[in-house]
Amino acid sequence: MTSQIRVRIAPSPTGTVHLGLCRTALFNWAYARRHGGKFILRIEDTDHGRNTEASEKAILDGLKWLGMDWDEGPDKGGPHAPYHQSQRVARHLEVGQQLLASGHAYRDFSTPEELDAWRAEQEARKQRQAYRGKDRDLDAAQSKSRADGGEPFAIRFRIPEGESSFKDLVRGDVTIPHFEIDDWVMVRRGGEAPTYNFVVVCDDLDMEISHVFRGEEHLVNTPKQILIYTALGKAAPEFGHLPLMLGTDRKKLSKRTGDTALGDYQANGYPKAAIVNFLALQGWALDGEHDLFTSEQFVENFDIGDVSKAGAVFDPKKFLWMASEYLRHESPAELLQHVLPYVLEKGLMTPAEIEARGEWLEAVAASVQDRLQLYSEFPDWIAHFFAADDAVPYDAKAEKGARKRARGVELLEGFLAALDSGAIQSEPETMASATKEWINAQDAKIPELFQPLRCALTGMPGGPDIFETLSLLGMESSKARIRAAMNRLAVPAT
Ligand code: GLU
Repeated sequence: MTSQIRVRIAPSPTGTVHLGLCRTALFNWAYARRHGGKFILRIEDTDHGRNTEASEKAILDGLKWLGMDWDEGPDKGGPHAPYHQSQRVARHLEVGQQLLASGHAYRDFSTPEELDAWRAEQEARKQRQAYRGKDRDLDAAQSKSRADGGEPFAIRFRIPEGESSFKDLVRGDVTIPHFEIDDWVMVRRGGEAPTYNFVVVCDDLDMEISHVFRGEEHLVNTPKQILIYTALGKAAPEFGHLPLMLGTDRKKLSKRTGDTALGDYQANGYPKAAIVNFLALQGWALDGEHDLFTSEQFVENFDIGDVSKAGAVFDPKKFLWMASEYLRHESPAELLQHVLPYVLEKGLMTPAEIEARGEWLEAVAASVQDRLQLYSEFPDWIAHFFAADDAVPYDAKAEKGARKRARGVELLEGFLAALDSGAIQSEPETMASATKEWINAQDAKIPELFQPLRCALTGMPGGPDIFETLSLLGMESSKARIRAAMNRLAVPAT
């Protein structure tokens, strides 16, 4: 056994990229990076009915996007290629033969009907009893000649008497009595289809995996796997089972309480660093005080022994809060890069327009930064900039508030005149104070102008500083919008 730390994730390419997989990848990756080990990606694509190429691509893309850079994998190769399980089947079958020859496994010729009958009997007995194949003790020569004669069989593992114990690096000592474990199928009947518990051991051994960190749902598989290592005369890797990710209903995380696919969070505009940070908290804590940390801090501080046994509750509200925290601390240039795809997707600007007005758009992004929780919200905040000045869509609440101000239209008119005459100058530094003085002189209160003005300029009930908005709109557009609002608010709402 090598002393180098080698960890892996072994996703099956079915369906979307689940956050549970991302969390497992993150913990393995951090462990490898912390200890100068290797992080390996192996694709367990032996379920031909359910595997898809699209899913495999999504896994590779998604994990890469999160920053999990594996050292060996299907796209990178490595000393233990191939990294697709389906390409290693000949090796699995060879090991199957080896275990048959050593008597650790046996051929079971039971027919599906016989197995059904056994199951029915078991149910009637109302007591679980581990399955022991009827051909468990068949004479080796007889077994071989029946197989050679073409009779279909499954290869089952011969569970020995006794119990298995191992030290789980997260859960501590685990002991499972063998009478609870079936003589499980290693290679399915009538075919060349080895099963997960068997092949995972072959591959982990061949790839010299030193530590297996995976979800708690695999805890029941571990004794079966350890027995294979023992049967092959090999040392088993260390195991650590990560706590289940639970929804806010405390049941296993599922669609019931929120999105579970990485792609949903990507599409909704969660900052990548927030996703990594939030996943790191699913079963681990930096110090119990600081929830926000970088992936570098995570790597520096991560230890498998500090992972908690208790299920990790995945709180979507906290996730959203974390997203907004990360977003708020980006530089305007970074923020701009992250919101651009949404601007394009909504068709607010073409790439050429973005190129020509990059500085302006960056300033717009900076103006709403404190109000954004997710990148995807950006278009809603800025759509008004692209409306025709005489047809800015008024949000119902904004319009109602503006109309409530009895002096609204009069003040808009006066404000416009003051801008035109230069009584209020448009320099951003002085405009706010000049406007407030002017409002005072009209014997009015600030909201009496600001509420209709905000509605006129943006159509929204709230938003960034009104003078910042005015300057981003430009004086000409702003005046046109004020003029339009004077007309629109002077007549009853439609
Ligand atoms: N293909 C298995 C899964 O996706 C791998 C489990 C393991 O890590 O052993 O759950």
